Amino acid sequence: MPTAADALKAHAELLALAREHSLLSSCADLLEWDGETFMPRGGVGHRAEQLAALAGVLHEKASAPRVGRLIEKAWPLGVDRGPDSPEAANLRELKRRHERAARLPRRLIEERARVAAVAQQAWAQAREERDFAVFRPWLEKIVELVRAEAAAIAPSLDPYDALLDLYEPGMTGAEISRLIAEIGPPLRTLLAAHGPFGKRRGRSGGAGPGAGVLEREFPTDRQKLFVQAVAASLGFDLEQGRLDVGQHPACIAIGPGDTRLTARYAERQFASGFFAVLHEVGHGLYDQGMDPADAGTPMHDAPSLGMHESQARLWENLVGRSRGFWKHFFPRLRNVFHEALARTKPEAFLAAVNRVQPTLNRAEADEVTYNLHVAIRFDLERSMVRGDLAAADLPEAWRAAYAAALGIEPSDDAEGCLQDGHWAAGLFGYFPTYLLGNVYAAQIYAAAARDLGDPDAAFARGDFSVLLGWLREKVYRPGRRFSAAELLRRVTGEAPAPAAMLAALQARYRPD
Ligand code: ZN
Repeated sequence: MPTAADALKAHAELLALAREHSLLSSCADLLEWDGETFMPRGGVGHRAEQLAALAGVLHEKASAPRVGRLIEKAWPLGVDRGPDSPEAANLRELKRRHERAARLPRRLIEERARVAAVAQQAWAQAREERDFAVFRPWLEKIVELVRAEAAAIAPSLDPYDALLDLYEPGMTGAEISRLIAEIGPPLRTLLAAHGPFGKRRGRSGGAGPGAGVLEREFPTDRQKLFVQAVAASLGFDLEQGRLDVGQHPACIAIGPGDTRLTARYAERQFASGFFAVLHEVGHGLYDQGMDPADAGTPMHDAPSLGMHESQARLWENLVGRSRGFWKHFFPRLRNVFHEALARTKPEAFLAAVNRVQPTLNRAEADEVTYNLHVAIRFDLERSMVRGDLAAADLPEAWRAAYAAALGIEPSDDAEGCLQDGHWAAGLFGYFPTYLLGNVYAAQIYAAAARDLGDPDAAFARGDFSVLLGWLREKVYRPGRRFSAAELLRRVTGEAPAPAAMLAALQARYRPD
């Protein structure tokens, strides 16, 4: 039996190893950020080698048998300090990371990294040439590899559940199916009433109320300045972070005091640029709000991707599309884009940013249809992982799913099953975290409103600090001390449930 002193010593050594792991993996994050922003195109090959080398080193360190022995020795310390203690949380996370790494042969990790790098190139080419056949053999290989990964990590689990658990610990495909069955009918009712074919459509006809307001000329250099000012007003600390133009909108947390956001702007698509950055600002506020004392330990992270996503969706939609938010920001926006908006009424602008319209594109979907896009991806990827859907049959299954759920069909696969890069990167089981993010966000926002009163009035005054302060204390500072379900229960008193999300949508789209 290890003594208490042995446990303390083992725990200290584990924390030192965890700090080293965190430093090395943040080097990979910085390389990733550079790849998104300033790296010349010619650097792609060398960058892939750098990232693969780091991934190999990290895997080697995480799977080392010594780590397993140290966790065993230190375990009684976590038990002694109690399930809510930092020691217990750190040991739980380290054990999870070690066991997963130890079950995965390095050969599989390297093969996956190599195939994903080439598959992503094939996917980009297929999308450009609008030709699924270019990507198909790589998708087949990727599915084979993630199935092997699932079997190695958790041979007793349904393979899809094993993958989902990587991103949302403890979540199952059955639970996601149940959520989707619950939200599908009310979302379709909202879409029927408020979409372009609905009774409540605006004067501008098929494109819905306010169409066109957001597609005027919004010079991108001014969009950049405006977004930066909004990010700062919401509480994103630009002394502890940056906002740059990148290939994709992203938030990459490098380490304490260094949270990097990337954005992409298009002159005639104000909304897609603006709300994508707001989304990343939400991720950034979460990362900046964690307890600096936890930095370098496993606790210094969100408990799940769904929980991290909840904060991006909360700031993007529940705050960023609210009446109070635009009461404060619309006059400022009109000053910056005077030519585009001089004659636009605030009400028309608010209607435009809340327009409901079935589209083929998930990333640009409104709040009502967004989860329907995710549900389609969940069904298809689960079928592929379970072997019920061959990669070759994906385009046809995609078209059928869009026709059934949204009443529209892509004219080619670039608009269809080639639009997202997740599968090319080997991310199967990731999409449901978007749905969970929406569900958690609404539950957390409703709890904030119960505690703080209607946040809208504060937003109208330009005050976002009360909400941010509440979120920091309740959600951001605890980091990964609790599981996502436990954190949600502590913050809202509830288990994950879609009622708050549906109520928020029904309130926003109620007949006036
Ligand atoms: Zn996100």
